[in-house]
Amino acid sequence: MDHFFEHKARKRFGQNFLVDENIIERIVRAIAPKEEDRLVEIGPGQGAITELLLKRCPSLTAVELDRDLIPLLKFKFRDYPDFSIIEQDALKFDFGSLAGDDQLRIVGNLPYNISTPLLFHLLGFRGKIRDMHFMLQKEVVDRLSAVPGNKSYGRLSVMVQYHCRVQGLFPVPPQSFRPAPKVDSAIVRLVPHANPPYPADDEDLLERLVNVAFQQRRKTLRNAIKPLYPDLDVSELSIDASRRPETLSVKEFVELANHLSKLDQ
Ligand code: SAM
Repeated sequence: MDHFFEHKARKRFGQNFLVDENIIERIVRAIAPKEEDRLVEIGPGQGAITELLLKRCPSLTAVELDRDLIPLLKFKFRDYPDFSIIEQDALKFDFGSLAGDDQLRIVGNLPYNISTPLLFHLLGFRGKIRDMHFMLQKEVVDRLSAVPGNKSYGRLSVMVQYHCRVQGLFPVPPQSFRPAPKVDSAIVRLVPHANPPYPADDEDLLERLVNVAFQQRRKTLRNAIKPLYPDLDVSELSIDASRRPETLSVKEFVELANHLSKLDQ
């Protein structure tokens, strides 16, 4: 790389740059970009993944918060007229503004310190997203794909699985990055459902329910939902209220939310 652009990784931006060519190729193979795709990369960093993506698909918008990286990226990809950079915080960015008639394909080796709020932010644009491929802390990938009863199963698992098909792809060891992170990483694919398999009548209510359900994991369902519905007659529920919320499947959470939403009417 040109000495002029030498960049020192910044911890506060969660900067761990990918340096392992095999892993970069494997990620791009998993994404399988087509020439006509509309790619969006969150946190391109020094362009490690960007470079291979652009070779396959010229239309790529990068969202990068660290302004010091912008000149480097602009210079490196100056021969790609459909490459653009938005200097912004991805947590505040309106991803919907990039979607035209085509749905977006979002990719990123995400800054781990903001990955959970970022996933929730992106779910807000799910109708405009075809799929997402992310590098995340392995523990977060475990949470995304966890099944009921598993210790990783929680709010993130239920809400992401409600909206998306989740597929854990492959692990990535710390030595694939500079600097090496202290945690293991993994690649995950999220594909938003065109229609959720178990639709909730009121998705805000589902989200509120899931939030309270996982606030204190040791509580029974009966006690966990008391703050939301103090006068609820639990004998009317199709689900045993003495169960712990972490044993409920996504479908059961939806059934419960739909029952509660009828009480609201
Ligand atoms: N894609 C590069 C790679 O694989 O080598 C860099 C990955 S690094 C783990 C995360 C990147 O996200 C950094 O470039 C960092 O500056 C950027 N970033 C951090 N916080 C961000 C935010 N809130 N919005 C957009 N980009 C952010």
